[in-house]
Amino acid sequence: MPSPEAAVQTPARAKAIPLVNLVALHARHAAEIAEVVDRVVKTGAFVNGPDCAAFEREFAAYQGVRGAVGCANGTDALQITLRALGLGPGDEVITVANSFVATAEAIALVGATPVFVDATEDTSLMDPLAFAAAITPRTRAVIPVHLYGQIAPMGEILAIAKAAGLLVIEDAAQAHGASLNGRKAGAFGVAACFSFYPGKNLGALGDGGMVISDDEALLTRVRSIANHGASADRYRNEILGTNSRLDTIQAGVLRIKLRELDSWNRIRRERALLYCEELRGCPGLSLPLEAKGSVSAWHLFVIRTDKRKELMSALAEEGIATGIHYPVPVHLQGAFAPKNGKPASAPVTERICDQILSLPLCPEVTEEDVVRIASVVRKVMEQR
Ligand SMILES: *Cc1c(COP(=O)(O)O)cnc(C)c1O
Repeated sequence: MPSPEAAVQTPARAKAIPLVNLVALHARHAAEIAEVVDRVVKTGAFVNGPDCAAFEREFAAYQGVRGAVGCANGTDALQITLRALGLGPGDEVITVANSFVATAEAIALVGATPVFVDATEDTSLMDPLAFAAAITPRTRAVIPVHLYGQIAPMGEILAIAKAAGLLVIEDAAQAHGASLNGRKAGAFGVAACFSFYPGKNLGALGDGGMVISDDEALLTRVRSIANHGASADRYRNEILGTNSRLDTIQAGVLRIKLRELDSWNRIRRERALLYCEELRGCPGLSLPLEAKGSVSAWHLFVIRTDKRKELMSALAEEGIATGIHYPVPVHLQGAFAPKNGKPASAPVTERICDQILSLPLCPEVTEEDVVRIASVVRKVMEQR
C-alpha cells in the first residue's frame, strides 16, 4: 500500500484542470448532437426551424414565465429589450460597475447613458442603497446583474424601482436556473435576458441568447426587432429592427442540454459547497456567500484574497487554471470612462476586482479535483 504521501507523487497529481471543460461535457452528448445537426440538415430549416419555437417554449416553462424570444447572443437580448421598451438617447439606465462589459455595452449601444453603481461587500451584487442614490429625473430603468449565478437582491431593488417608476430588466446571463425565495430570473423584472455563450451554465455550440417575459406585447416587439422589424407580414417593416435570431441547430442542441441543466447545477452546487468546507477558516481568504433564500446557479466559484498573484502562479504550476471575472470595473474601462469629469465612484467594486479569483467549477470538476485544488490554496495561504 503506498502511503498517501507517495500517492501524491503519482502522475495523476499532475492532471491539468481547466476552468471549464466543454470538450468532455459535449463528448457525452455527441450522438444526440449529431442527430440534431442531421435533422436540421435534412429538413433545411436552418433559420426559425421547429426547434426554435420548441426551445423558446421549454426554456420559458423552465424559468417559470409565459414566453421567450431567441436571439443571436446575450448582448443583443439586452439591447433589443431596451429598444423594445423605448429606451434611448437622453435616458439614464442604472447598472453595476461589477459585471461583464456587455451589460453597459447594451445600454450605450441603444444611445442611453449607463450609470454605474457599487456592489455590496458580502455578495458582490448590486448595492440597493447605491442604486437608490443614483436615481435622477432622467433615470428610466435599472439592470441588476445576477452575477456569478446568484440573483441580485430583487426585493429591495423592486421596491426602490417601483417607488421611482423605473423599469427593471434582469441580466440573467449567468443565472440559468438560479432562484431567490423560490422565484427564478424573469419573475422579478419586466424581462430577463440570457446568454447561451458556450461557457455559461446552459451554453450553445457558439453564440445564442434569449429574452424571457410574462409580457406578451413586449415579446412581440422583441421578436419583431430581432427579425428586421418585420410584422406578421414578412416584408412590411414598420419599426427599425436588426438581424438577431437563434439558429435552429443551436436551439436543437440547447433543448438537449436544458434537460441536463438541473443536474449540472446540482453538481456545481455540491462542488461549491465542498470548496467552502475545504477552505473554511483559511487565513486571508474570503469565500463566496449565498444570501438568505438564495439558491445560486454557481456559474463561477469566486474567492477573494490579497495574495491573488501568488495563488494564481502556485495553482498554474500544478496545472490548475484560474480566472478573474472581471479584472477591470466597467466604470473604469476606456470605453466607458467619462470624456470629461471624474468616473463614477465604486470603491467596493474596485477592491473586489483587485482581489477576486475564480477556481475551476463545471459539471466535469470532481470531488477529488476540489480537494486537490483546495489543498494547494491552503498551502499558499498558510505560508506566512
Ligand atoms: C455573458 C454575459 C453577457 C453577454 O452575453 P453574450 O452572449 O456573450 O453576448 C451579458 N451579461 C453578463 C453578465 C454576461 O456574463
